[in-house]
Order: sequence, then structure tokens, then C-alpha cells
Amino acid sequence: MNGRAGRAIDGVLFDIDGVLVTSWQPIDGAAAALADVRERGLARAFLTNTTSRSSGEIAALLRDAGMDVDDAEIVTAGRLTAEYLRTTYPGRRVWMLNSGDVAADFAGIEFDAADPEVVVLGGAGPEYDHASLSRVVDLLLGGVPAVAMHRGQVWASADGLQVDVGLYLPGLEEISGTRIVSVGKPGVSAFLAATELMGTAPESTVMVGDDLVNDVLRAQQVGLTGVLVRTGKFRPSVLAHSSETPDHVVDSVAELPGLLDRLG
Ligand SMILES: [Mg+2]
Repeated sequence: MNGRAGRAIDGVLFDIDGVLVTSWQPIDGAAAALADVRERGLARAFLTNTTSRSSGEIAALLRDAGMDVDDAEIVTAGRLTAEYLRTTYPGRRVWMLNSGDVAADFAGIEFDAADPEVVVLGGAGPEYDHASLSRVVDLLLGGVPAVAMHRGQVWASADGLQVDVGLYLPGLEEISGTRIVSVGKPGVSAFLAATELMGTAPESTVMVGDDLVNDVLRAQQVGLTGVLVRTGKFRPSVLAHSSETPDHVVDSVAELPGLLDRLG
């Protein structure tokens, strides 16, 4: 059943929301599981599509929730986008449309809202108004490339579902006749970038997530060992109706140490 059984594990990549915390409150056993992974000498990283906070802020929130994590271990969609800009558009002037301040992850990148050479589309919020979206279209039609932090269409808030950047991308792509690159989950490049940062091969890395499709199955597509937790957004019906199966399913991240023992 498990095609990846017997592989040596060198690192664990964690989704954050729904795996370690819910609304920044710790999920039982998460801190102990993270400590266990570190004590085993395995590489760790935390992969999140968060666009509203910098990686340093997220590390601080996890530490406030009792988890021992380093800033450098947090891989946000914003951080991945900054890395993409540095390698693909070095030195180019950037206009970023994003709800939240992630400038701390964009060190060395020049922002110029008046005369941009690249448009970065981050998380949607009040900034995505008629004037801003019209300007994005104008720039795209003028040949300025755009990069999206992710393609998520909605996110859950205390006030209900909120639309996100992915809702706008098909329209922007259709009108401009271009494909807008997105760097966060579930793009497979996000998992590869994270493992590269960890210094591990995908084949020797475990991905722990609460989203069957966007965390676990996508990670498995590029060779990671997938572990689905039954916390956060996990729904039994989604798993029951999936044509693909996760490598492992555990009740929560608290069971990870036992699973790592079995994986050897
Ligand atoms: Mg999650």
C-alpha cells in the first residue's frame, strides 16, 4: 500500500494551519512532535500560503503557541515569491498588490508602484479594488509580467469565506492572453523549493498536511511521502471520495513520532 515504505527519512515539511495550530492556538501534541523531529536530527520546514504576515512574524506566533521554531524554517508564499523574483527577474522594479505587509521577506527587491517591471499579486483584500485591478490589466496588456503568490480562491475567516487572488487570475489571464505563474501551494515548485531549502531530496522528505489534495497528494506527486492528519480542514468524505490515497493517515500530528519510528 505504501510505495515509499523503507525509504530513509531526512526531513519533515509541515503545513501550519490545521496541522500545528487552529487560529494560532496549538493543536495537542504539536510542540512535542516538532521537538521530536528536531531531536531525531531531521531537517524541518514549515510551508504555508500565508500572504498577510512575514515569515518572522509567523515564527513568532508559533513560538507564542509553545513551539520551538526558527524564522529561517518558515517558508511562506511571500518568501517563495521573493526568491522567484530574485532568480527570474533580478533587479526589476516591482509593484505588489497584497493585503498585508510582507516586505521583511523581500529584502533587496526594489519596489516602484509608479513604474513597475513586474506585478506581484499577493493575497486579496480591500486592496483589490476596481482601480487596482484595472491597473493590473493595463500593465499586463502593456507586456509587464505578473507573478501570483498562490492560486487560492477563498479562505475562511471568522466572518465566513473571503475571496482570494485565485478568483481574479483566470480573468486576468484571459484578457491578457498570458499565463500568470503562481509560486505557493499547490504548485509543485513550492514543495521542491521547500525541500531545497531543507537540503533534503523530495524522496527522503515527509509532508504533513490537513489538505488532502493541495498538501498531501501534490507533495506525493513530486516524490515526497505524504501524511494526512485528521485535524483542521480534514473531512472524511473528501478522503473517501478521492481516487488517490495518501501514503499515511494519522489522527493528528501528535502521532508523527510513532509514524517516524515505523518508517525507520
Ligand atoms: Mg492547512
